[in-house]
Amino acid sequence: MKYNWSIIGHEKQLKLIESDILSENISHAYLLAGPNSVGKNTVAKKLAGILQCSNDFCHACPTCLQIEKGVHLDTIEMIDDKESIKIDDVRKMIERCNMTRQSNYKIFLIQTIERMTTDAANSFLKMLEEPPERTIFILTTNNVRAVLPTIISRVRVMNFALVSAGYLERKLREMYSECDEDTIKKVGLFSLGKTGKAVNLMENPDELANYIKIYSDVIFFLEHKNITERFSYVSDLVEDETKIDTFVTILSNVLRSKILDGENAYEHIDTVLKIDEAMTLIKKNVNLKLVLENLMLSLK
Ligand SMILES: [Zn+2]
Repeated sequence: MKYNWSIIGHEKQLKLIESDILSENISHAYLLAGPNSVGKNTVAKKLAGILQCSNDFCHACPTCLQIEKGVHLDTIEMIDDKESIKIDDVRKMIERCNMTRQSNYKIFLIQTIERMTTDAANSFLKMLEEPPERTIFILTTNNVRAVLPTIISRVRVMNFALVSAGYLERKLREMYSECDEDTIKKVGLFSLGKTGKAVNLMENPDELANYIKIYSDVIFFLEHKNITERFSYVSDLVEDETKIDTFVTILSNVLRSKILDGENAYEHIDTVLKIDEAMTLIKKNVNLKLVLENLMLSLK
């Protein structure tokens, strides 16, 4: 490949994007679709950089530095802040879209496009249908089924799937040859095919240490069935919401990998379904303590 995309896997998709760049056949809109943490946003930003920088996203010129910081005038980013994208946000985008361009392109990076309200999406659609010259939309979604078909029909969809555990571990070994095998295996387990997540953990030792700590808690839980101990852990856990997310994700991944290994599969499938249910409730901010206590009771 010509460019260093700084992600693992997705070679087929990246080659397609590269051939669009090299043949100067850039689509006016891309939708990078797939689960979270597989590298979609990294690719989106990289693509914007390659198109704007006269030296293939050199990471040294003012354009690149501004894009990296998210302050480049002609590269407008809408990062997923968990809020919906409303019609006012789209109006602001249209204003930016109509402003005179000073760079190669006017690029809109919009993360998690399914956040758009129906009103916003309809207004956005008009801009997508008749964009000013050299305007490019790079959109991402975690759930392509939640994106309006009218939007899908006007963009080039690129699917980013999970990669297999074996492939991910092999790539991590190549990229981080200094790293010990136990850490590689653990990162593989924590990310479960999510390549972006794996790279993120490898690059952030503090985050990784935190995951390993919570992983040992999870293993402790699965080995000790004392409800009092489990409940007292839950009391600590609810103090820190980001920790809840990590705990539940690792718990789910550990059980999923046991299912893949064929270990007590039926029993674990049941628990994984309960974890998914709990995750949905946690997102809806239902009484966290209650949700987690119920989950602890259902752990075998
Ligand atoms: Zn540059």
